[in-house]
Amino acid sequence: VAPPPTVVHAFRAGAARHPERTALAYFDGRTDFREADLLSDSVAGHLAAHGIGPGDRVAVMLQNGPHFVLAVLGVWKAGGVVVPVNPMYRTGEVAHLLADAEVSGLVCADRAWEAYLRETAAGTAVRLVLTADERQLQSRDDDRVLTFEPVPAPADTEDLLAVARAGHRAPEGRERTAEDIALISYTSGTSGTPKGATNTHGNITYNAERQRTGSRIPEGSTYFALAPLFHITGMVAQFAACVLNGGTLALAHRFEPGAVLDAFAEHRPAYTVGPATAFMALAAHPAATRDHFSSFVLISSGGAPLPPALVEKFRAGFGPYLHNGYGLTECTAPCASVPPGREAPVDPASGTLAVGVPGPDSVVRVLDPEGHEVPFGEQGEIAVRGPQVAPGYWRRPEATAETFPGGELRTGDIGFMDRDGWLYVVDRKKDMINASGFKVWPREVEDVLHTHPAVREAAVVGVPDAYRGETVRAYVSLRAAVAPADLVAHCKERLAAYKYPREVRVLPELPKTSSGKILRRELRAPSGAGSGGTETEG
Ligand code: ATP
Repeated sequence: VAPPPTVVHAFRAGAARHPERTALAYFDGRTDFREADLLSDSVAGHLAAHGIGPGDRVAVMLQNGPHFVLAVLGVWKAGGVVVPVNPMYRTGEVAHLLADAEVSGLVCADRAWEAYLRETAAGTAVRLVLTADERQLQSRDDDRVLTFEPVPAPADTEDLLAVARAGHRAPEGRERTAEDIALISYTSGTSGTPKGATNTHGNITYNAERQRTGSRIPEGSTYFALAPLFHITGMVAQFAACVLNGGTLALAHRFEPGAVLDAFAEHRPAYTVGPATAFMALAAHPAATRDHFSSFVLISSGGAPLPPALVEKFRAGFGPYLHNGYGLTECTAPCASVPPGREAPVDPASGTLAVGVPGPDSVVRVLDPEGHEVPFGEQGEIAVRGPQVAPGYWRRPEATAETFPGGELRTGDIGFMDRDGWLYVVDRKKDMINASGFKVWPREVEDVLHTHPAVREAAVVGVPDAYRGETVRAYVSLRAAVAPADLVAHCKERLAAYKYPREVRVLPELPKTSSGKILRRELRAPSGAGSGGTETEG
């Protein structure tokens, strides 16, 4: 089946077919398809009345919640382009995105507007601001949750919900096609200044449809938004896939393991996807039981490396098998995943867990530095071609030519393919550690640390060393007490001499992006989080 051209087409079709089905669920609140369709029409009508039209950019800077979905559908229905912005970003980061994308509209939390966004947006092209009162979504004890009533918006803004409730009609003639840009998704910048990938509507619906048809999740099931919706994984694999499947999107305001477990018990979701760190946190929560996970048909771990030891710990503790999935912002979330009912093999030589097999319409190649394909089993840079690959970066012809030569995405990830078509990601090219001329891939060392029962999170970086050039250092957070020297010994027993960490530092928690990725960059920085903690020489 061909995917619908846009998520809006799918949403409208859903609203016509099953108007009374719940589209959005949050705490005790429910919004059905008909209501969500009308509310987002009204947002679209308002945007259009303020001159926001085809191709205009609107930043949506909200936590997971019904507001987020109404804003995104509203912008798309007005013909606009959504620029998802991480709500944790502060002045400098936001200012860069607003200016780079030349954003004319902004949807954000009222408190963030009052606190700093009003100043940040001054002098940019932003001319329309809709604010949301996210306090309504934070606590089930707050009775406003049930009524979900608009509250007065800060001066110089309008309240998103009031706009949605105003009953404006969606503008006509704003239908987008599969080729139009739907999102400018800024990479989280774990590797440098964020660049905006221009994901088209067709990129999104292709991946959402693949996810839907390939996953055996019954039509109309509940999807739980574990990954943040502002991140491409949440946007596509949760929100868009859920819409295409006519499902209910269950939302929790932010990732707090206890609240997420309660929400699993309440909404009984069939599907969720999140970074491995989220599953580590859920598995470590004292209240977590097998029952919390018994409704799932499929759980995917995506967007960050998945340690094989976590897959086993999770299955032994809670039942479900975590399906690995590999993707990038530039290919609109997944481009390889583990098909349901199958298990990813672990490469016997390196201990690497396969990320999956490429989708049927994608071509994944592994290239040497000259751009020639390498034989099976050999390492090289992963390159992807397919209907989910974005056409490029927003207004950056040079970066586009470099990263998308001839329309093929060069991922910057080193990996290999086995004879059966399984793809393995070794690590990011730029994270390689050069210890006395030997290549050390941090992920391999992290996987070994994860096999130790006391380890909760692990990250490995190279640090300058007068003798070796670079030396391997590990940072861990723990689930049980252990001496760093024991962790060094654990690795030394299992890894070649040049690979094991000479030093292990313990931190209460590792620095992460708000999409849950461990920030190795911050651990490498001399003044970063890496300077704290206890230390031991191996
Ligand atoms: P930036 O590109 O600015 O550093 P980012 O890392 O957050 O930001 P994303 O597009 O969110 O950008 O992340 C994509 C990267 O995540 C991939 O290139 C790969 O390194 C890593 N990744 C994603 N899925 C997996 C997986 N299943 N296993 C290992 N690594 C993965």
